[in-house]
Amino acid sequence: MTQHSLDPEDWTGVRAQGHRMLDDMFDHLESLRRQPVWRAPPQTLRETFREALPQAPSDLADVHQVFRDTVLPYSSGNAHPGFMGWVQGGGTVVGMLAEMLAAGMNSNLGGRDHMALEVEQQVVGWAREMFGLPATASGLFLTGASQANFLAVLIARRRALGPAVRAKGLAGDGMRLIAYASAAVHGCLGRAMDMAGLGTGALRLVAFDEAQQIDLSTLRAAIAADRAAGFTPFLVVGSAGTVDVGAIDDLAGLADIAAAEDLHFHVDGALGGLGVLAPSIAPRLAGIERADSIALDWHKWGQAPYDAGFLLVRDAELHRATFAADASYLQRAERGLAAGDWWPCDYGPDLSRGFRALKTWFTLKTYGAAALGGVIERTCELARALAQRIEAEPDLQLVAPVALNVVCFRFRDAAELNPEIVMRLHEGGVVAPSLARVGGHAVIRAAIVNHRTEQRDIEALVEATLEIGRKCRHRPAA
Ligand SMILES: *Cc1c(COP(=O)(O)O)cnc(C)c1O
Repeated sequence: MTQHSLDPEDWTGVRAQGHRMLDDMFDHLESLRRQPVWRAPPQTLRETFREALPQAPSDLADVHQVFRDTVLPYSSGNAHPGFMGWVQGGGTVVGMLAEMLAAGMNSNLGGRDHMALEVEQQVVGWAREMFGLPATASGLFLTGASQANFLAVLIARRRALGPAVRAKGLAGDGMRLIAYASAAVHGCLGRAMDMAGLGTGALRLVAFDEAQQIDLSTLRAAIAADRAAGFTPFLVVGSAGTVDVGAIDDLAGLADIAAAEDLHFHVDGALGGLGVLAPSIAPRLAGIERADSIALDWHKWGQAPYDAGFLLVRDAELHRATFAADASYLQRAERGLAAGDWWPCDYGPDLSRGFRALKTWFTLKTYGAAALGGVIERTCELARALAQRIEAEPDLQLVAPVALNVVCFRFRDAAELNPEIVMRLHEGGVVAPSLARVGGHAVIRAAIVNHRTEQRDIEALVEATLEIGRKCRHRPAA
């Protein structure tokens, strides 16, 4: 008889192989600092991933060996202490182990009656507590803040247009909805407006001040002008940490305007929302507790492994009314596996959902909120130290105030060299900042998010930037 199950015949052998794979990842994480932050995948290796669909089986140990040799050494670098590019978290050993457990359970968190949903609800409860939202607020895990921001736009749209928008779409209503955010808002908000059928043109990008915070009087004037022109303002988005420089909008000021104008007040907290865990940052997020919805990323400052986006919504009923739909195969039972009163598929577009909550639950429970807050404080301290170091170097120039953990600077008098410097830093494999645009210029941006980053990595960034910059200045790139 042929065997149909994919379970191993030799459990002892697979157990030993599994232990080797786990040990291998411990070795990898323990030795991160001795590895390059990034190295370019060689073309010959890329080509090994163009093979035809495998029909025959392979030995697990052999497949793992391929992974070890060709995938693992050429990773995206964000786990490495020298990684400061974009805004990405480093992950943890605890998160890795929790991912393994979640994969072993293979739970589907679309709904029904099982304990994994209680774990997700526990994290929702902790998030409510962290942000000071009422016990009735709802929340759920998503891939990332791009999705969370998109869902928030849909929720605000449903609030403005009522139930009819579910059946008729925008064709059912002549109202032209307008949203507002600072010109420094993340690009995913424009995409969310596009995907929601409202169009990127319906997102007013309001001017910001020298601290890169949204200018509230310009916002008020824009809302008034739009109302006078027959538009319907429906949503204002505050940034708790802008992507380029980490600026925090005046969230209390935005909450006042949203209340006075009857707008949905959403906060994009992907970069800085978890700052509520850090005693020195929390006061600067005042007003976030008045948000109607908050988008978060546990995979950034929260250090949970990718992906772990999250949305918190004050009005759970509005949240449900935005997404819930009847389907006979999703009917709820009084008892049995099809019971349960919280089915996440009613709160977002996903029906099948993985157990993202487990790695975040493990992270919060194992390290504790205070330690995570400490990591967040530390990344901001390192950013301030980097800013001081830059200001002490005549060849470097700080180009934006350091509000949180993001430092933007440039090689002085040769700004056009910055992209070349960043590429050479990546190729050097010691530190990896990214590029950002500030005031229309390409600048070097170090976003310190990873809990493994230390003062010596800051030093290495400054030293390597100076060395490359001085070399390029004398011998410009071809
Ligand atoms: C990272 C980020 C996003 C997008 O989040 P993803 O998790 O990458 O989808 C949105 N806004 C800000 C401010 C961010 O930093």
